[in-house]
Amino acid sequence: MELPIVNHPEYVAKINENSVFPIKKFSALANYLLEKKIVNKFYIPKECSIETLSKSHSTKYINDIKNKTLDKKSEVKIGFPINDSVIKRSFLATGGTVLASKLALDFKLACNTAGGSHHASYDYGAGYCVFNDVAVAANYLKYRKKIKKILILDLDVHQGNGNSEIFKNDRNIFTFSMHCITNYPAKKSKSDLDIELEENLEDKDYLKILKNNLLKLNKMNFDFVFYIAGVDVHYQDKLGKLKLTDGGINQREKTVIENFFSNKVPLCGVLGGGYNKDFNKLVELHSMLHRNCSKLL
Ligand SMILES: [Zn+2]
Repeated sequence: MELPIVNHPEYVAKINENSVFPIKKFSALANYLLEKKIVNKFYIPKECSIETLSKSHSTKYINDIKNKTLDKKSEVKIGFPINDSVIKRSFLATGGTVLASKLALDFKLACNTAGGSHHASYDYGAGYCVFNDVAVAANYLKYRKKIKKILILDLDVHQGNGNSEIFKNDRNIFTFSMHCITNYPAKKSKSDLDIELEENLEDKDYLKILKNNLLKLNKMNFDFVFYIAGVDVHYQDKLGKLKLTDGGINQREKTVIENFFSNKVPLCGVLGGGYNKDFNKLVELHSMLHRNCSKLL
């Protein structure tokens, strides 16, 4: 069976060419997945509806994005210009994670080729995140599909502060973030479980800490997991301060995906961050999520 992967050509938006955010990675990844025959066709998402978004974001914030009425300071905090293509990609990428989460319920595993906008909170965006796609999809599953215990497993090098803020009073959606202590955001919020890593941590120690935590999480018997597979933990990343190798990241994806698959917990994988000095390497690293999922189906 082929792994369901969600992609849309308009995940690539028009932003400043000099931006540190490598926006072209979304189309490059899609091409790479086709070339390597990890997938033959993509599922095409629709723009997320206002109704679905509004379970996780304030109506005022959603409308400020939609109508381009966001104030300048809030736009600067996001880091993207709020133009037509960025607005469209924000609605599409969120719809993409919602679609991938529904596919994961049916197929046990499914991935988006974008998503993991984990710095976006209830009424603001930040750090290249407009809408918090994983939060929106988690609330979608909770309200529409009656899924009870959901885990957000965030292994991006940056803390998933948007999710921990949105779900701080939600006992059914558990936020786990394992990140570098000195990376953005400077002021961390409180997840249900935060694992703070020292700078320069390498494969062996990273994987050991991860495995110990997966054992703890397995005891909590989740019904569904969102996996934010940021590859900014790589040693060549421009922003991340950890030192994982290609092999370390591949082993991380294998460990996480096999762990939940063997426990029969549906998993929806999303990209998360990645700002590698080498663009082709970045695409290859992101594809490890999809490749490791596809091996199991
Ligand atoms: Zn990140």
